[in-house]
Amino acid sequence: MTQSTVMQAAFMCGKLDVRVENVSIPQIEQPDDVLIQVHYTGICGSELHAIEGYEITAGTAVTENAHSPLGHEYAGVIAEVGPGVKHLTKGQRVTAWPRGPCGRCDMCRNSLHALCRKIAQRGGSWAEYIVTPAPLVYALPDDISMAIGAITEPLSCAVRIMDRAWMRAGQTVAVIGAGPIGLFSAIMAKHAGAGLVIVSEPRKSRRLMAQRMGADIVVDPLVENLHDIVMRHTMQRGVDISIEAVGLEPALSQAINIVGVGGTVIWGGVAPAGLRVPISPNDMFMREYTLRTSWGGLLEYDRTLRLERVIDWSPTAQEIFPLSQAMQAVNFSRTQAAGKVLLKTAAAD
Ligand SMILES: [Zn+2]
Ligand SMILES: [Zn+2]
Repeated sequence: MTQSTVMQAAFMCGKLDVRVENVSIPQIEQPDDVLIQVHYTGICGSELHAIEGYEITAGTAVTENAHSPLGHEYAGVIAEVGPGVKHLTKGQRVTAWPRGPCGRCDMCRNSLHALCRKIAQRGGSWAEYIVTPAPLVYALPDDISMAIGAITEPLSCAVRIMDRAWMRAGQTVAVIGAGPIGLFSAIMAKHAGAGLVIVSEPRKSRRLMAQRMGADIVVDPLVENLHDIVMRHTMQRGVDISIEAVGLEPALSQAINIVGVGGTVIWGGVAPAGLRVPISPNDMFMREYTLRTSWGGLLEYDRTLRLERVIDWSPTAQEIFPLSQAMQAVNFSRTQAAGKVLLKTAAAD
């Protein structure tokens, strides 16, 4: 049982308007519910898009329920478990899938849980507490910090990007955009044995971070020609894999232009719903490249947690604001100066 019945939580009240309010602590409603005291919670690009008023049809109701706080990336400590929960206990350090697949639709039955037609998120994690069903909860190993545990969800998106890219050891990889997803993808490509990782990113701080985390070549697309640099380092062939992690032009087209014959393009950024990108069927046919997208990451959690132990991710999750300053944290995140921006609750101190 928790002492107080009131908690702080951050809500989106309109465009560029995030407010921290005192609301009731969510209650255990189902036998398999788990009440988690949130320690750290991430600010995702998808939430920034929503706050900035982008229209995204990502298939989830992250912000659609006006009574739910924002947020879906988090780690914390179990405060209470429902009577049906046997494998988790109070006091345990955990992270969780943000959304629960139904397990019954055609997508779920074909192992496409992340694309479940009835996938739903209960509550939001920009709050001191969140209730979530036990099957979505993952124990956090002792040697993974809460702050890194809180980025399990975006890291799992990068693991999925690796899966979708079918990368083989020694291949050449270019990543366009070194926001958290692009940065995480570049680091994973390097650890998965990429022979060359090129990162294109206009922000200097992010280029430096990519370099520190192992990128072989960093490119400032505002002053350098990414296409020329890629060609120069790949014997004029183009990269085997190009990963786009922006969701906007010119990045989406660039990813196609720099991929080599027979290569794979991954569109991993969340693009605005109305955006259209010109693709030449003739060019696609002649170069026989493959264009794939990568949406989220749920089934990748076990592997992601293992990667959290073997790679030092701490330089990528340094910017931490108190939950009470959620709007400032959002504004800082919008400057794109940092890696991953996290909110922390009083429980994290
Ligand atoms: Zn996310
Ligand atoms: Zn389903």
